Amino acid sequence: MKSHSGRGSQMSRQKENNMKIVAGNWKMFKTIEEARTYFAELASATPPQADKVRVIVFPNYIALGALAETGSVPAWVLLGAQDVAAEVEGAFTGEVSPAMIRSTGATHVLIGHSERRHIIGESTVLLHRKLVNSLEASLIPVLCVGETLEERNAGKIEEVVFGQLDTALSDVRLSDGAQLIVAYEPVWAIGTGVNATNEQIEQAHHLIREHLKQLLGTAIGGSVAILYGGSVKPANFASIAGLPSVDGGLIGGASLKPSAFAELIEIAEQV
Ligand code: PEP
Repeated sequence: MKSHSGRGSQMSRQKENNMKIVAGNWKMFKTIEEARTYFAELASATPPQADKVRVIVFPNYIALGALAETGSVPAWVLLGAQDVAAEVEGAFTGEVSPAMIRSTGATHVLIGHSERRHIIGESTVLLHRKLVNSLEASLIPVLCVGETLEERNAGKIEEVVFGQLDTALSDVRLSDGAQLIVAYEPVWAIGTGVNATNEQIEQAHHLIREHLKQLLGTAIGGSVAILYGGSVKPANFASIAGLPSVDGGLIGGASLKPSAFAELIEIAEQV
């Protein structure tokens, strides 16, 4: 099995030196073969400077396990799972535990992606258990939060997003802000081609930052990376990633093609 242990040092201090995170969420795309082909192509891109850009890819579970086996992932790419079980072990048919994910060499896990909240119907309480157990297994949760268009129009951004943070992070104590990443993903911008304006992103990220400081303490809450997600593509990423409140992007559709993903990585390196 390919070991990703040498990547551990990359996981810490993610907000230092204006580090940007470029995270690709493949959703339910790519067979094992397609995943290998993707990384074979991505491997020919110029690796980003390690102190400027951190790259994380979230394949499906099947591809994740296979990629760990074959060692076909460039050393500068960290891997994560798109979901995780809320329990540690046991009779939970179809579920995949934090330890199983960690055993592939994956370092990160998406928690509370809007497709899981709104399509699969995952509750905030369930997401809290996923987050706590992932931290226990030394996985870095990428906690996704965001409001629907109806909630935004009703002036409920703070109520919704703070509620999602409050429940997921209830009683969570971190020793380092690098143990957690938050992704602000307005539901109306995911996969729609409509991205939030820079003003909307800045406003939401500032609200989230202040709330994280309240929940986790000023130092830790101030150092958790906050990503933007929602119809990010090479054409709009420079202006989004260049915003002072944005520590990177969580990218769905545009991460599926290695050429576009390589472009996004390059953009993050330049902002
Ligand atoms: C996502 O999957 O988290 C996402 C933001 O998707 P897209 O970039 O396609 O909007």
